[in-house]
Amino acid sequence: MDTEISIPKQEIPVNFETIAKAARAALKKEVKHLQLIPAAAVKLLQLTNDDNTKVKDLSRVIETEPALAAKVLRIVNSAAFCLPKKIVSIKHAVNMLGFSQVRQTALDQLFYNRLIRHKTKQQFDQLFFWQHCLFVATLSRSIAVALKHPDPDMVYTGGLLHDIGKVVFESYGRVTYSDFLVSLGTSDSSLIDNEGVFFGLTHTEMGCVFAMTWNLPPAITAMIACHHELPKASSPYAEFSAEIAIVSFANYIAWVQGVGSISAFSAPRLPEQVLKTLDTRKLDLEDLLRQVDRDMANTREFYGIQFPDIAVLRATSVQTAIKLGDKPDAKTRAAKTTSLTIPHRSLDPDEFIPLTLEAIHNDFGLDRVVMLTIDPKRRGLVARHGWPRLVLEDILNSFQIPIESITGDLLECLRHRKPVIIKTADNRDRAILKRLQTDEFIAMPILRHNRLAGLIYADNALTRTSLDETLLFRLIPIVNELGIALLNAGQYDMARKQAQIDPLTKLFNKRVINEFLTRLFQSEAEILAKTAVGFIDIDKFKSFNDVCGHQAGDDVLKIVADILRSLTRPGDLIGRYGGEEFLFVLRDTDKVGALGYAERIRQEIERRGKILSDRFQGHALTVSVGLTLYSPRYESYHNFIETADQAMYQAKQQGRNRVVVLTGEA
Ligand code: GH3
Ligand code: MG
Ligand code: MG
Repeated sequence: MDTEISIPKQEIPVNFETIAKAARAALKKEVKHLQLIPAAAVKLLQLTNDDNTKVKDLSRVIETEPALAAKVLRIVNSAAFCLPKKIVSIKHAVNMLGFSQVRQTALDQLFYNRLIRHKTKQQFDQLFFWQHCLFVATLSRSIAVALKHPDPDMVYTGGLLHDIGKVVFESYGRVTYSDFLVSLGTSDSSLIDNEGVFFGLTHTEMGCVFAMTWNLPPAITAMIACHHELPKASSPYAEFSAEIAIVSFANYIAWVQGVGSISAFSAPRLPEQVLKTLDTRKLDLEDLLRQVDRDMANTREFYGIQFPDIAVLRATSVQTAIKLGDKPDAKTRAAKTTSLTIPHRSLDPDEFIPLTLEAIHNDFGLDRVVMLTIDPKRRGLVARHGWPRLVLEDILNSFQIPIESITGDLLECLRHRKPVIIKTADNRDRAILKRLQTDEFIAMPILRHNRLAGLIYADNALTRTSLDETLLFRLIPIVNELGIALLNAGQYDMARKQAQIDPLTKLFNKRVINEFLTRLFQSEAEILAKTAVGFIDIDKFKSFNDVCGHQAGDDVLKIVADILRSLTRPGDLIGRYGGEEFLFVLRDTDKVGALGYAERIRQEIERRGKILSDRFQGHALTVSVGLTLYSPRYESYHNFIETADQAMYQAKQQGRNRVVVLTGEA
């Protein structure tokens, strides 16, 4: 279904060859998948694991996530679908694909998404970027509706994807968008001009090449390619000028509002043609913005995440604009939104906690920042991370606070979940203060769904400057974000595990087996040569269901799974491949070893079946096993399992309850 289309079928802009060449030079490899936003990945995992998921919820994720939206549009608009007209609405695309394929696409994307863990300490802030895309998309749609545009959903899609070129740079660039942002000095030229110099092409040009290569509809390509400069009359995109002008205008408003696509400040510029193309007098901007705020609030609730408060962003952008009156320096560029969004940069607490502590240290000028968690075993508070690392690494142990020694204000703080500054003036906390060698410290409870997850500790013990009371209030939003990030991380972890395990048998599912085999096939020849794969299929399983009921059938599956688990070595793999079919992968083995394993399994299942014979009304529990050893003739793991499948089929034909080996040499 996912056909590669390298030659764009749509009308080609004049300079396309030049920018396509520049794009190839700028990228590490072909763009197959784009990075998912972590919060959307969490939601997606939950939805794809839940049997009761509604199409509506799944499509909502796709409608709000640029990478997924692009993927789904690519699939429906690919040659395989043979549609007479391009699909430009994401909703429409989802309906066309149907639930199960959408789910599959989402899952494929999720598994690519492992990468998110390694891309955290970056200037390119995904959450910030996402907020920008959503803001522009919703505002564009509202404007389209207000102007009675015939297809507001199309304009929405353009808004959601307009900056996709930045994502392409960030995930696939030889130098990433983060590298670019770091390099931004005090240059006065616009962000987009700087991109051209830095990458050899701008994000709109990169976006254009990407959209053409993925064969996205021309209208969408037009909005991606031209939102910073409206097309000339001769351009193939001129027919979409109205749509482009809407996205361009919405993009401008977003930047003015402080909801730009990057947190560094850049003076927004409205392309001249926009106001000529768009009758902005017809727009009730106040009403439109209110609508966007409402839409954003809904999205936030759907994902259970927090975007930086728009009011805060507006204030920041005003302050930055004022400061820009002086020569802008690197400090003013880095608006103080880092600590607010940083907890959401990763789904791995060991990554985002230190980043958050560092941001608090920097943004609030605190000397030492430590995260304490509640350790039920040691019954007390333990320090897991601290910043600055160099100062705290060796003394983190001294931050351990046994439960019985917690008294005074610290106890109040934990009990009532209220932030406090603990001072020597209060005698009851003297022991702890003495041990931590400070006169005072801040204790901020971190809540996960209203339950205490830990504590942020901060002091000025190095500079001995006193702690300002207002810090408590200023820190609250960040600590809240940290709590939400911890919750997300926990859910992600759980959902990931669920996505790998078959709920009935608790064995790995087909996806994990395939992943394992794919990786195995990348190993060296000597390792592969000692590998065997086999299928185990329960004989006449259907009649267990028919005679003893579906529940008994399920029990049989569990019994077989338990036996397989108990007889399989740790380095080997056993999983449920389908209904009553299991697959094993043995390593470091040979024909004799593999046959021995298969025979042991066959016999043990038969033996257990006899013991349980009464329960299954005399129905014999046996399995047929098809086995094969690796052959250099196998081009992929598919050949490997096909041969095992054929062997299993022969075992059935020869009368069941037996093991058949086939070599790949035949
Ligand atoms: P053979 O010996 O040729 O393998 O015959 P069979 O009956 O085992 O094979 P067949 O493929 O005809 O039937 C498999 C049955 O397994 C059909 C399906 O209803 C049942 N099945 C698949 N998954 C489950 C499950 O999770 N629980 C239960 N109880 N039955 C299942
Ligand atoms: Mg842009
Ligand atoms: Mg069977």
